[in-house]
Formats: sequence, structure tokens, C-alpha cells
Amino acid sequence: QEPRSVSILGATGSIGVSTLDVLGHTEDGAFTVEALTGASNIALLARQARKHKARIAVTADESRYRDLKEALSGTHIEVAAGRNAVIEAASRPVDVTMAAIVGIAGLAPTLAAVRNGGVIALANKECLVCAGRLFLNECEAHGATLLPVDSEHNAIYQVLAGHDRQAVESVVLTASGGPFRTWRREKMATVTAKTAAAHPNWSMGLKISIDSASMFNKALEMIEAQHLFQLAPEQIEVIVHPQSIVHSMVRYRDGSVLAQLGPPDMRIPIAYALTWPERAPLPVERLDFAKLARLEFEAPDETRFPSIALARRALDEGKAAGAVLNGAKEAALDGFIAGRIGFLDMAERVEAAMDALAGEPEPLALDAVEGIDRRAREIVKP
Ligand code: NDP
Ligand code: MG
Repeated sequence: QEPRSVSILGATGSIGVSTLDVLGHTEDGAFTVEALTGASNIALLARQARKHKARIAVTADESRYRDLKEALSGTHIEVAAGRNAVIEAASRPVDVTMAAIVGIAGLAPTLAAVRNGGVIALANKECLVCAGRLFLNECEAHGATLLPVDSEHNAIYQVLAGHDRQAVESVVLTASGGPFRTWRREKMATVTAKTAAAHPNWSMGLKISIDSASMFNKALEMIEAQHLFQLAPEQIEVIVHPQSIVHSMVRYRDGSVLAQLGPPDMRIPIAYALTWPERAPLPVERLDFAKLARLEFEAPDETRFPSIALARRALDEGKAAGAVLNGAKEAALDGFIAGRIGFLDMAERVEAAMDALAGEPEPLALDAVEGIDRRAREIVKP
């Protein structure tokens, strides 16, 4: 078999590192690495590029070009820097692109990859949250295959395979509930970014970890699911499941509910997307049902986690609401990480932006998405 070529956008992040780990467990010659991109972590990017014999290494940070060039001196690896260089690297034809840049910064490079056709392993949920219709239109126009890496959506994708879509009643997204699942609201008001980032089950990047604590991550995932699986708002359920073993479920009209289970390890959905339609063996922990003892489920508390209600509102409003919710959330999250606003202020700021920009038309081009994103951020301005 010919080796598959892979580019990893966001190679130095949590998903990027796990992706390279998965590649390291595949048979020799199964994959070749084309482009690896990062931003601030030049030492790691250079190490990854050397180890995996990448053709090109790119940092999004223009000011770090020299550092990267120096770190890769004596190799044949090409070096580039800046936002446009990331987009150019993403547009090199490959069999699989892992889209794992965090935030809306991932949209333009991922769209560039889509335009090559090929497989898009999508970790960057913001692409669908901000630009769902645009993104799916581009996938269709260029014959790209979209495979969700987000564990919940990957679970649903696996469950739906081979089943009649008309028979689906709803999808049930599971949520761990994060570190504050049982906390009182007053106590949540005073937490710092450090406490909020300590996720009980998953090891992830800083921003998505805090989004899990506020359940804004689940809010984004509800909108992601709406686009990915073409669902009506009422077909999207959320249930808190603290053990993170059931990764999500599909409820069929005949009363059957099908689930995908596994240990909370992102390498599983990553490997699924990289090796699809095959499944390769992976040295991960095996679920030991006798030791699991029990799996719990509870309804999310929308008073303590208003993000879920805001997502419902965005699902109902449609149009630009996803882009507004995401842009406002990213700005509010930056403010929280920097210590300028409190944990509970984030949802209030997002709601204010959604009020101010309600009814804005759906952005169907990249610059329109970025325009709405900018306006939402300006309203939040923490
Ligand atoms: P990280 O913060 O760990 O990594 C983000 C990556 O993006 C890094 O490589 C970072 O480079 C790079 N980056 C940051 N800013 C920019 C920018 N402006 N332009 C280009 N590149 C940039 O994030 P995660 O790996 O946790 O998440 C990545 C995406 O995957 C997110 O959209 C997240 O929601 C999604 N996801 C993540 C999961 C997880 O388990 N981590 C699970 C499901 C989805 P550097 O570090 O060098 O600065
Ligand atoms: Mg997820």
C-alpha cells in the first residue's frame, strides 16, 4: 500500500502531539508527514519536524521565523512563518489533514485544506460553529471527506455508519460536567483559570479545558453537531456523564439507543480518522467493565451552566448566532485567563453579544465570518 501523506495544523498542541503519537504506533511506511504547523512552541515544533521527517515546518508567529530556521539548520526541512504561511502549507495536497489549531484562527487554514479534497480530520470545532454552512459547502464543492475528531461527534459518526438517517430521533451528547459539576454557583464565581483548567478525565489544551469547566465546550459541540449531522435543534440532547466512558449516543425512532464507549483517550478518535475506513490496532487502555462498576447520568444544570441555554438559543436563531457565540466566548475566555473577568462573567458577556448581534445574516464567506467574529469580540471587550 502507498503511504498516506498527512499534514498537522496545530502539531504542537494537545491534539497535535497525540496525532504524532498515533503515527508513531502505525506500521513503518504507512504515513509520511508533509506539513507541521505551530505557533509559540518552536522547540517542540522543530523536534517534531526532525523526528517525523516533515517536508515543511511553519510557525504562525512571524517574529519566530529565525528561531525556527535555526532550530532546523542542517536539515532539508523547509521553514516558513506567519498566518499566510500556515494557510499556504495547509493548501499543499495531502491525503489527510489533521485540523487541530485552537479557535477561529484554525478556520482559514482548514478551509485551505478542504479545497484540496482529501480527508479532513476535524478537531477544530470552531470551523463548524462559526461557519457551518460555508465549511460544509466547501467540503462538498471540493470533494473533501469530513471526519469528526471531537470524541462525542466521532462517537456519533461511528454509531450512524451504516444506519438509516431517517430513523434517527436525536443524538445525545455526553458531557463530563467538568471540575465544577457539583459546585455551588457562589463558589464558582471566584475560581481562577488554574482551577478551571484541571479537568477530571481528559488531558487537553488550556482553552478547551476551561471551556469544559464552564460547559461552553458542550455549547460549541451542540452547534457542531447541528451542522455535522444536519439536525434540528430539538434533536440535540445533552446529558452529564461524569465517567466519560460513553462518548455519545444516537436515539433511534424505534426506541433503540446506540452508544460508542471507550477510555477517555483522544488517540482513539484521532486514529479512527487517520486510518478510516480501516481500524488499526492501538495500544490504549482496555475498558475493564468489572472495574468500572457504574456509569452515571444526570441532567445538566442550566442555572449554573448558562452556556447550554445560550447554545440552545444559537441553535434556534441560526444565521450568525454560532459565530457570535464563539467570537464572544473566545474574547471572554481570553479575559478570564488574563484575570480581567470572573468565571461566571463569561456567559453574561456572551449573552450580551448575542443580544446585540441578534438577527445578523449568516456569514457565507471567510471575511464575513471574520467580520462577525471581530464585532462579537468588540462587544465583549474584557
Ligand atoms: P492546544 O491549545 O493544546 O493547541 C493549539 C495548537 O494551535 C497549538 O499547536 C498552537 O501552537 C496552535 N495555535 C495557537 N494559536 C494559533 C494561531 N493563532 N494560529 C495558528 N496556530 C495557532 O489546543 P488543543 O489541541 O487542546 O485543541 C485544538 C483544537 O481541537 C481546538 O479547536 C479544540 O476545541 C479541539 N479539540 C481538542 C480536544 C482535546 O482533547 N485537546 C478534544 C476535542 C476537540 P503553539 O502551542 O505552538 O503556540
Ligand atoms: Mg468533545
